[in-house]
Amino acid sequence: MTTLKIDNARFLITVDEGRRIIQGGSILIDGGRITRVGKASELAAVGADRVIDARHMVVTPGFFNGHMHISYAHAVRGIFPDDQGSPLNHVFALQAAMTEEEEHATTLIGLLELVKNGTVCFLDPGSTKFPDACLQAYQDAGIRVVTGECVIDRDSPLALPRYPTQEAITRTAAFVKKWDGRLDGRVRAWAMPFSAETCTPELIAASKRIADEAGTGLTLHHNSGASARKDYQAKHGTTPTGYLEKIGALGSNVVLAHVLGIGDDEIECIARTGTAVAMCPSTAAKGARGVGEHGRMPELLAKKVRIALGCDSPNNSNYLDLVRAMNMAAVQYKDARQDIRLIPAESAVEMATRLGAAALGQGADLGAIEPGKKADLLLFDTQRPEWQALFNPINNLVYNADGRSIHTVVIDGRVVVDAYKQSFVDEARLFAKVQEIGESLQARTGITFPRSRWPIV
Ligand SMILES: [Zn+2]
Repeated sequence: MTTLKIDNARFLITVDEGRRIIQGGSILIDGGRITRVGKASELAAVGADRVIDARHMVVTPGFFNGHMHISYAHAVRGIFPDDQGSPLNHVFALQAAMTEEEEHATTLIGLLELVKNGTVCFLDPGSTKFPDACLQAYQDAGIRVVTGECVIDRDSPLALPRYPTQEAITRTAAFVKKWDGRLDGRVRAWAMPFSAETCTPELIAASKRIADEAGTGLTLHHNSGASARKDYQAKHGTTPTGYLEKIGALGSNVVLAHVLGIGDDEIECIARTGTAVAMCPSTAAKGARGVGEHGRMPELLAKKVRIALGCDSPNNSNYLDLVRAMNMAAVQYKDARQDIRLIPAESAVEMATRLGAAALGQGADLGAIEPGKKADLLLFDTQRPEWQALFNPINNLVYNADGRSIHTVVIDGRVVVDAYKQSFVDEARLFAKVQEIGESLQARTGITFPRSRWPIV
């Protein structure tokens, strides 16, 4: 199949240059690219190999998920009690215990949840231990991924993969060289040193050079805050973000994840260097990170910083649904600062689409419904109670809907979810397998918790 037509959509949310919302809009796709966008009447004479009747659909660009750890977590989802505090040590120990076959299965289930909820591209910050096996899963799901090998070269209480500096650099370069551009360019490989606290400046600077030379990117975890600022001031004479700039780690191909607690001077530094960020609203909320005090999304947007939203982890933020992440981003700042003007629904949609694609270095090709762009689209089914009544599709999308009303998903011009159905995996068998992996993983690692505060009888 080479041509596809999305015909007569109730609303097309284009997120194009003019942010047009086309009522009764049609899209023509040829060879994976969007060739025409307009009113259904203008395109009525043009046929296609397949025509999807979209009269009950709201169509948006596919969603970009800028920080999404995929690996062990689905197998032990929900085991950490609410008051566990940071589960990170358990997280990396569980991750390290995964076999190749297990990681393939948990990756498939992650991709299944992502794709069905509208993520067409995600950045996995180096969680994947077995990229060969997982490449098959990416291919089967038809999704786009930004992948990499997470490395550290400093002592850390976290069970992260630690190597001598030179070996960490060599591994990073080899990973990028081997994986970048696979699956017709749907796989991008980036440098992924974990954080400035766990990596030497030599490793981070070398990682940035590798990304620059290969024309790819770099992501690392980055937060600030009063105590980190005090620490960095004493040790390095600058802020945590200023330190990254000083060692040459910032730039337009860098995505800093979380960025909680950054001060005005750090926002200035991020904006000046053209660095992008990925923010995970539900992780911040669930982890009681104090968005009111530490979240700076409105200020970053005001400085035109490219922000991608992230769902972080199936065992942290817990849901892999960017519609819910948009909702959280749009409501949490209003509440935290008692200011209803903050993060309008339109800003949330921009972060999930156009801005998110730009943050991940894919803005030229993706993130909007425009002629010339690659055809990554979501069709939301409005024949559901949560979409009634429908006058302002942006408000309905961000404040009423969730990913479960996604009816059809198109990636690279290919229909990967068709009327709620995918065809890359047997869901019932996969669910049973992942449950078994979870049992086995807890038994092998000894990492278990009471299953509930309430008696399970
Ligand atoms: Zn992370």
